[in-house]
Amino acid sequence: MRLKTAALCLALAACSSSRTPAVTAPVAAPPEPARPPVVVTVVVDQFAAWIAAERVPLLPDDGGFARLRREGTWFRQMRYMHAATDTAPGHSSLYTGQPPRETGILANEVPDARGARVSILRDEASRVVTFDGPTDGVGSSIARLRVPTLADALRERVPGAVIVSVSLKDRGAIFGAGRHPDAALWYDPGRDTFITSTTYANALPAWARSAGGTDAVRALRATPWTLLDAAWVRSHAATPDDQRGEGDLDAWGTTFPHDFAHARRPGGAMRASPRGDQAVLALAEAAVANARNAERPMLLALSLSSNDYVGHLFGPDSWEAWDQLRQLDASLGRFFTRLDALVGPRGWSLVLSGDHGIVSMPEVQTVAAARPWCASDAGRDPWERPCGALSRLDPDVIAQELQAAAVSAIGPGTWVRGVADPYVYLTPEAQALPPDRARRMIDAMIRRARQHEELERVVETTTVAAQCPEGEGVEALLCRSIPSESGAALFLQSRAGAFFDAGYTLGFGTSHGSPYLFDRAVPLFVRAPGTVEAGRVIDEPIAFTRFREMATRLLGM
Ligand SMILES: [Zn+2]
Repeated sequence: MRLKTAALCLALAACSSSRTPAVTAPVAAPPEPARPPVVVTVVVDQFAAWIAAERVPLLPDDGGFARLRREGTWFRQMRYMHAATDTAPGHSSLYTGQPPRETGILANEVPDARGARVSILRDEASRVVTFDGPTDGVGSSIARLRVPTLADALRERVPGAVIVSVSLKDRGAIFGAGRHPDAALWYDPGRDTFITSTTYANALPAWARSAGGTDAVRALRATPWTLLDAAWVRSHAATPDDQRGEGDLDAWGTTFPHDFAHARRPGGAMRASPRGDQAVLALAEAAVANARNAERPMLLALSLSSNDYVGHLFGPDSWEAWDQLRQLDASLGRFFTRLDALVGPRGWSLVLSGDHGIVSMPEVQTVAAARPWCASDAGRDPWERPCGALSRLDPDVIAQELQAAAVSAIGPGTWVRGVADPYVYLTPEAQALPPDRARRMIDAMIRRARQHEELERVVETTTVAAQCPEGEGVEALLCRSIPSESGAALFLQSRAGAFFDAGYTLGFGTSHGSPYLFDRAVPLFVRAPGTVEAGRVIDEPIAFTRFREMATRLLGM
């Protein structure tokens, strides 16, 4: 794989040796560790580089991010090299160092045989495991991943290493866990408990019950979500608490206080509040306290997804998003203090990033204060955030349109199986058509999709180059998104500011998934006492591969 561009190569340790790096990587080869390291990897879901650059400096001195800035290095711009900037492609890329073209993890979801969207990690051969043991429910596994992960490399190198991964969603837990973790835990809002699957174990670890069982997560919802620091939120948010466009999840409401007792599905509401991250961090602390073996290295992979749910429902400009960041900062600060107590301040290191970014809600495009870059003469934003119209695309409406276009072109039949952002899938009947009819059908679908001005490119997956172009042009990013034998027919790439509705509250909120820097660039924080320079900020862009490189070195591999 080649990810080189002139700009990126400057900051990449992996660049060809003929170039002189403009930025010296702040990581020296770590000295032989006196005792096995505890390495914590954190993926803050939907943590855009633009959000971190603009908002992290506003956080208080006693929070988690201020500590990371004092004690570590902040790479302000780490870029993904693929176009479909979503959670499963992002997490799998971080933990393998490869883009979706190589990992096979092309999207969050795929349509099942009947066209209903299901998790890309759903595995009919695996079953959900709760604290009561295996259930009949279909579970999730890593079976679709085509390449090894960071955790897999650690397991091979140090068979007795302790590997624990925790998230609010399967796609946040499984890539960090790898194929042979000690525990891979994720939250199931329907069952209202953390779970695993039979792929990993037939029982959950005993240490996880007090923090991850139903009683524990219910206790986190005992009081409503209120603003941690109302003055701070009011002084920074550019929109009102009742901003039009915010999604009302199951009657949970769009203004503070958000009372979990009012939500029809309180588990789903908990995920979309700071309490979701608190549940994950409580389990993380329990893992370090109970699962660690002081004689062996430990990888603790955490995915904090409340930020993503909050962003989808209320948008990144909302009071909810500002408070979520403020509370995440406080929760991380407390978690770091607990790590100090458990393994000592020099006993743990941390790599923190995001899996993709975000763009404002369409309804915010009329709020000038939320788009200050649009007021300048240049009208250009370093993060490529648009000044024009923002809009939502409904994947099911597009699926119906493409089906109708196919019928017009080749006659009656069920030709489109479904659209799962950003891909269009065909039915087995459509895939079995003779070449000339298939051509007419596909051409008609492409013409119909191109009528949407929200779509910038409509790409037939079979036409991508055998060798992807280098650099960060859209063609190269698209190429690196699409695996061989993807199973999909078309890739629908939206314009900057248009996005596929995530469906949590259809017609409301916002989403991500584009190849532009507001979605494709994330921050990278690295804290490793004695190994990584403290108090340093690096502006030059680096590639997403740096996440795995850093974690690999900190694990002593
Ligand atoms: Zn998301």
